[in-house]
Amino acid sequence: MVAHIRSLIDQGQLKPGDRLPAERELAVHIGVSRPSVRAGLRALAAMGVVQSRHGAGTFIRSGPPVLGSEPLSFLAALHGFTRDEMFEARRVLEVGVAGLAAERATGEHLASTAEEITGMYASLEEPLAFLRHDIRFHRAIATASGNPILASLVEMVSALFYETRRKTASRAHDLRESAEMHRAIYNALRVRDVDRSRQAMNDHLVLAQQRQHLEDASAASDGEPPAPEPLEAAARAAASARDLLAGELSVHQPTPVRARSMTVGSRRAPMTRARA
Ligand SMILES: [Zn+2]
Repeated sequence: MVAHIRSLIDQGQLKPGDRLPAERELAVHIGVSRPSVRAGLRALAAMGVVQSRHGAGTFIRSGPPVLGSEPLSFLAALHGFTRDEMFEARRVLEVGVAGLAAERATGEHLASTAEEITGMYASLEEPLAFLRHDIRFHRAIATASGNPILASLVEMVSALFYETRRKTASRAHDLRESAEMHRAIYNALRVRDVDRSRQAMNDHLVLAQQRQHLEDASAASDGEPPAPEPLEAAARAAASARDLLAGELSVHQPTPVRARSMTVGSRRAPMTRARA
């Protein structure tokens, strides 16, 4: 089913925005059962390829490519991604993206970036609303980079970040400071200063990472359950078993020497903790 849809896309017979035939027709056409068609559609939806609209059917996604957060959150659960790893990934991606955005952002991109900053200042007392503007701000910059591959990767990491961050967001006490840092990024983008945009993005993510550690520590001292180590161990065992079988998927190389785990305060807080 997935392979069939893939080949239709490759041949140009399906384009963004096209509606897929009904399940029944697909089943007959491909020669599989309807449950298989349904399972295939679910898989395609998780990959961000199709989108079902209630009452209207299933469509090939249009607009900028959006990868579902599902694949990455599965990997996070399996491999026990840590917050530090996530911030590191964000820095590598988003500092570069900010530099490109400084060169390429259109007026429209800058306007939607500014809009999210306004939203942040309007929600200083509402951490979750603030977080949503924060995510959209980073997404707007990723779009402004003009590189849809980078934009998809940022989207994927942001979705994962949102999932984990929203559990501790209510503990954020520094939203004004955070809004200021976002504004600094915007100001640099607006004057098309590549170096300053990159620097401002880096500063923001470094500080956000430090704040996240504080929120984690505050959650721990309030007696919230500590990270479920056995679960993480089980996930790692499952992961290494799977790596042996698959011999691929080297997204995460498990544990060579980790210099950064020596940094102060960077206890390994698995991002899977509240997922049980
Ligand atoms: Zn941010």
